[in-house]
Amino acid sequence: MNKQTLLLILLLFTGIVNARELEYNQVFFENSLMKKSWFYSETSYESPSFVLNIQGKLPVENKESFTPGNSLQLTYQSARKGQWSARLMFPQWRGKDFIKNGNSLFLHLYVADETPRTELPNISIELKNKKASKGLPLGGYLKNYSPKKWMEIKIPMKDFDDGSSIKIQHSEDIQSIVFQQAATDGKSHRLLIDQVEILPEECANQLPATPVLKTAKGYEQHVDLSWNPVNPEDVKYVKIYRSKDNIHFHPVAVQSPQYASRYADFAGLPGKTYYYKISNLDYRYRESELSPSVKATTHILTDEELLDMVQEACFRYYWEGAEANSGLALENIPGRKNMIATGASGFGLMALIVGTERGFITRNQLIHRLTKIVSFIENADRFHGALPHFLDGPAGKVDPYFGKYDDGGDLVETSFFMQGLLAARQYLNPLNLQEEQLRGRMTKIWESVEWSWYKQYADSPFLYWHWSPDYAWHINHRLIGWNETMITYLLAIASPTHSVSPEMYYTGWASQDTIAQKYRSAWGKTEDGSMYTNGKTYYGLKLDVGVSNGGPLFFTHYSFMGFNPHLFQDKYTHYFDNNRNIALINYRYCSENLKDYTYYGENCWGLTASDGPWGYKAREPVQRMDDGTIAPTGAIASFPYLPQASMKALKYYYRDCGSFLWGEYGFRDAFNLQEDWCANIYMGLNQAPMIVMIENYRTGLVWKLFMQNKEVQKAVNEIQTIKQ
Ligand code: CA
Repeated sequence: MNKQTLLLILLLFTGIVNARELEYNQVFFENSLMKKSWFYSETSYESPSFVLNIQGKLPVENKESFTPGNSLQLTYQSARKGQWSARLMFPQWRGKDFIKNGNSLFLHLYVADETPRTELPNISIELKNKKASKGLPLGGYLKNYSPKKWMEIKIPMKDFDDGSSIKIQHSEDIQSIVFQQAATDGKSHRLLIDQVEILPEECANQLPATPVLKTAKGYEQHVDLSWNPVNPEDVKYVKIYRSKDNIHFHPVAVQSPQYASRYADFAGLPGKTYYYKISNLDYRYRESELSPSVKATTHILTDEELLDMVQEACFRYYWEGAEANSGLALENIPGRKNMIATGASGFGLMALIVGTERGFITRNQLIHRLTKIVSFIENADRFHGALPHFLDGPAGKVDPYFGKYDDGGDLVETSFFMQGLLAARQYLNPLNLQEEQLRGRMTKIWESVEWSWYKQYADSPFLYWHWSPDYAWHINHRLIGWNETMITYLLAIASPTHSVSPEMYYTGWASQDTIAQKYRSAWGKTEDGSMYTNGKTYYGLKLDVGVSNGGPLFFTHYSFMGFNPHLFQDKYTHYFDNNRNIALINYRYCSENLKDYTYYGENCWGLTASDGPWGYKAREPVQRMDDGTIAPTGAIASFPYLPQASMKALKYYYRDCGSFLWGEYGFRDAFNLQEDWCANIYMGLNQAPMIVMIENYRTGLVWKLFMQNKEVQKAVNEIQTIKQ
């Protein structure tokens, strides 16, 4: 085979694989969750010119929009010897990395005053390589100029491409859309812009079909709508209309069918009756007929009902939001549609059990899903029994999303998965033939994990995080506590087939040798807790174990969704008490609020790992690790530790922040009011800890199930009887 043929085959193969992944249209602006300013924008000006901005960002317009609920304000003054520009950056989030190519830039423009066409700004694009195109006159692309109406502007990409300074290979090369001063009349002009996006020019020429609105269910301040799925190839958005009298309907939102067949309409008040209709919009915003209306009434919820509501919404992430082929959890939604996160999937197994107990699904539905999951895992890539961090759902193959060396087993993600699998196995009834068979298959998966292989060498004191068939131990990351990997040591000791010695709890996880000390000081940036034990006092609380002042809250969640900290103490501490102190330190840090974030306090606390304005990061209750980003999972998954403070936080997140923070899968991943930012995504690692830890607080269900496993009991006993 010659090189060219090989290249062609490779290209074809890549094309096929890529084609299966969800491709996003390159949308620079559709709607802003935050009502004040648009985070993914940047303004600048030189007097005597000006562009209206809020802390360097474009203001959001909430009354007038092309696609509901909002648009962007572009209010400017173009003067001689001055200059202004406003830049829209492509909003990136994890897994939004497959982009549909398009050949035209579209936007919708509303001229809110008497601005003549010649005083409209220029528009240009900037590529990822920082090269900028020439500015094109916006006014030149308006077919019919009519102020105070939404007008479509279409600019072929080739117009930006002058063939020399910039070359656009694919629309994903485009990083920003820039509006800038064109004229010099020195007067103030006000435009609104909406739906700034790159789309293919072709589009089906018939009206989309009318969607079927199935249900509307009222909660305290929002109504949950669901409809029959529509095809995202034909429908760009489902448009949602609300009415108070079932006569006058006004549009409130659009929802992409790529992402959900639901919408959580945060109308904002209890005790109200609303009527809803929906329609489909195609890629040119042609609209179908409206569906018949469906009615719902909001009402005050009790504390118990609020907990049910949060649990059900989080459950939905793992039930409705699961990867289609495997039934397992995605890394984040919206995000990649095919990429399974195995650790989050283990958390999801526990969420499915809770969902069954709470009546969100039937036991038969659970058994059906568990069977699908087990069948998938039996055939998926495993590396000495360990799962990789990410699996491609349709193929069941490792997806080295974090880099080429991470193309093998991930023992920590595996332990999160097995924690869920053992809880699920225990939930099944050995007296029922079908369930007993499933238990047997789960046992095989659990027993196939070669925990001892991940020691790297026979007398190793440590377990290692990764092993790759191609790069072996290249990543070479030792597992050393205090962090989220306690469950990994527990299960490695518990394994009936490939166990490690219980002594590794102290020689590995809680090691006090110099390697372990250095490891802890390196990431904690402090000597506090470098011996595993800590012993210092923070905010009036003595911390027995923990690096720095305890670290991010997920350390007290991930290992303890099944593993009951009430039932475990080693020679250094009792883990419920220690976890509770870590949660309390976090709470007191946020209450003290030395960085003076207006929203921090007794209702808003809980620094942990989450998405953020500048990406995913673990945040901690120390000033240099606190950028003002709060993830609801921090406080809500701490329900067993601080139930009253967690309930206050839950109410604040829902009642005060719900308009941007609450959505189809519960609370969005994180928010930062300092930056006027809210995550667009929900994350697999963060939704389940909320439903599961609320359940442990309410009934102890998942703790009971996991701890009933004989292997777990044996490991706990072995660790606790070590005398050192
Ligand atoms: Ca809009």
